[in-house]
Amino acid sequence: MWSIILHGGAKSIAEKDAPANRAGCQRALEAGVEILKHGGNSVDAVEAAIRVLEDDPTFNAGYGSARNADGEVEMCAALMEGAGFNVGAVAVAKGVRNPISVAKAMLYEEPVLIAGDGARAFAAEAGERLCDPDAMIAMGKRSAHEERGHDTVGCIARDGTGCLAAAVSTGGLEGAPAGRVGDSPQPGCGFYCDDDIGGVVFSGDGEQIARMILAARVMQALEDLSPDQAVEAALAHLERTGGQAGGIVLTPDGKFGWGHNSDDFAVAIASSASPVPKVYLRKGEASHG
Ligand code: ASP
Repeated sequence: MWSIILHGGAKSIAEKDAPANRAGCQRALEAGVEILKHGGNSVDAVEAAIRVLEDDPTFNAGYGSARNADGEVEMCAALMEGAGFNVGAVAVAKGVRNPISVAKAMLYEEPVLIAGDGARAFAAEAGERLCDPDAMIAMGKRSAHEERGHDTVGCIARDGTGCLAAAVSTGGLEGAPAGRVGDSPQPGCGFYCDDDIGGVVFSGDGEQIARMILAARVMQALEDLSPDQAVEAALAHLERTGGQAGGIVLTPDGKFGWGHNSDDFAVAIASSASPVPKVYLRKGEASHG
């Protein structure tokens, strides 16, 4: 029995952008499904799905990431597996083509998180693909400080052996100060994973998500609440700080949960019981796929 859920960010999706969001999420989900249905593991599945989203400039991750106040792309990514609580994360990473693969390469290394020049040096040593930092700017797609939503991407998978993995990748917030790090690469804030409880990934206003430790709250709430309720209960804490967010959850028995207080939140799901991808642009919408 395998299951996979991913999201394309807590944001508003204009009608003209709906097809690209739907298609991008579906393609990414299919990359993860391909691995899971052939007996692959959850770590490889979430990496494969996130790489597709990182390569798609529709989303704020990898190629096409938001630009900071200096007009530069600085990316964050994290991957966690729920059997041994291993975490690999990079922050303020410049000039790496797929930050999620750098995070995966770090998974079983001692440090949880490496930032800045150290992240790029680690990527080089691990044989990950490097590029000119400016090559991650999708020219023509976005103006320098165009107002954009939170289109960080995330994915959680459970493989046939019952192992869970959670992954997140982001270009951060448009116009943020150089060196700023949000919730995404911080365990307990933007993501978490425990094979006995479940996996969770958030997108949205990183400062507020971090201050309210939303991922940690979901993990605690899952002891008593359904996956949907656990996300809703965590999001309710944003009433104390303000902020927009959306989160996805996958439990050890393969139950999906998701919710958002943003207008839209593109989510795609599939499982061995229902392998044809279902794609939604917001909660309550009939699925496409
Ligand atoms: N959470 C991300 C951050 O604060 C932004 C996003 O979700 O797009 O860096």
